[in-house]
Amino acid sequence: MSHLSRRIFVLGSLTTAGVAALELGAIAQPSAAASTPFPFTLGVASGEPDGNSVVLWTRLAPAPTNADGQGGMPNADVAVDWQVSTNQNFTTLVSSGTLTARYAQAHAVHVLAGGLAPDAEYYYRFRAQGFISPVGRTRTAPAAGTVGRDFTMAFASCAHYEHGYYTAYRRMADDRPDLILHLGDYIYEGAATAGGVRQHLGSEIVSLADYRRRYALYRSDPDLQAAHAIAPWLVVPDDHEVENNYANMVRADSSPALTAAQWTARRSAAYQAYFENMPLRAAATPSGNSIPLYRRVRWGTLATFHMLDTRQFRDDQACGDGLKVCADADLPSRSITGGNQETWLLDGLGQHLSTWDLIGQQVFFARNVNSAGAMNMDAWDGYRASRARIQQGIIDRGVRNPVVLTGDVHASWGNDLKADYANASSATIGSELVCTSISSTGNGSATTTIPNGSLNPHLRFYSDRRGYVRTHITPSQLTADFRSIATVTEHGAPATTARSFVIHDGIPGLADA
Ligand code: FE
Ligand code: CA
Repeated sequence: MSHLSRRIFVLGSLTTAGVAALELGAIAQPSAAASTPFPFTLGVASGEPDGNSVVLWTRLAPAPTNADGQGGMPNADVAVDWQVSTNQNFTTLVSSGTLTARYAQAHAVHVLAGGLAPDAEYYYRFRAQGFISPVGRTRTAPAAGTVGRDFTMAFASCAHYEHGYYTAYRRMADDRPDLILHLGDYIYEGAATAGGVRQHLGSEIVSLADYRRRYALYRSDPDLQAAHAIAPWLVVPDDHEVENNYANMVRADSSPALTAAQWTARRSAAYQAYFENMPLRAAATPSGNSIPLYRRVRWGTLATFHMLDTRQFRDDQACGDGLKVCADADLPSRSITGGNQETWLLDGLGQHLSTWDLIGQQVFFARNVNSAGAMNMDAWDGYRASRARIQQGIIDRGVRNPVVLTGDVHASWGNDLKADYANASSATIGSELVCTSISSTGNGSATTTIPNGSLNPHLRFYSDRRGYVRTHITPSQLTADFRSIATVTEHGAPATTARSFVIHDGIPGLADA
């Protein structure tokens, strides 16, 4: 038995025994034949809460990393029962039902559990093939027009499997947040590479089977499962869920060699596997080679999450991508969002739906220029007119508390957004919180010296460690803790707070906590 499959077997056995010892409510005792393998090796998840519903997710995969991507399931559809309770013993059922896990969707299931109370905590579980799943915790958003209770939201990005263990996901779960945002690079597409703490399986992923198997490999991780099981998630992909630095239909490299039709098929496969493996609403069902992902999620009158998609609609990176001095990056015709999404975002910001407008998105938003005058063409610095239109839109609409939430760069940054980045004394119009990676690029270093800090005085904080950002949000302030993990090449490191900032209601920019 390989190390991986032994670990999964032990996890599955413990989980099943633990759940079976609880009172079982309307779900009968498991009666699986001893030879039937445990199908819930990928854990459970929830997402997309509103005031009375939440999506519940699982995927049946008794042999999760089989090369055909089907997780060891037969070519047959399977009934899955689900339950929602107010307590983790399931003594009182709030909602329950049965649906079909289909072979054509790699036996992923998405339940829209409705009829729930607003601003309330719930527990959920599944049953299939005589086995009961691990129990997940989730919650609903506050009712429309209400602030709701104290609110803790954590966000993360960039979890390269080979570069480190998922201690940061475990520490997020330990915090028991109300909501988790994932801002992309949930998987990486590359081939198995020696020298890391663990290895991908197979070549660079291209087919639907490849993507399904890669998600199953990542989801087999118990620390990631713990983060999914503790809170509902809002997710948006970045590039590596498809291929490094792709821009709409343009690839950034030609390896592996693919015809145009093969690339289109690959993008379709990547989006299908993303949908299958994430707790998304049916509204995000892929169609052809696109997936409708940008959306608003309301958290009462406290917060609105504007979740962006900066990959599917962007123009190709200017000047051949990379770190460049590039006049073309100023062209007004260039967009990182596409026109429709830009209009949609500005319209939403203009509605003043809540105290906080939180823009969850993928790539570095504030200017970050180096001493040669070069900027990252894959980030908003490569789409400067696009950024200027969003910023001017924020100013014109009097958006009270805009906060951009960002991933991608594998380091923590805390930034002020400036009306004119060339003029340090221009108005601060908002804030940006950039989470570091969960594991990508490994341990990093202890440095907190801000790269190019003197050239970019609006960049206020930097850390090269792995981790996540934890926020606590009230009507009067947003507190952000940059959580830091000293090592991800060993299991079990604690999380410490490297730096905290406060954003006060009505006062854009980061203040000392
Ligand atoms: Fe990344
Ligand atoms: Ca990325």
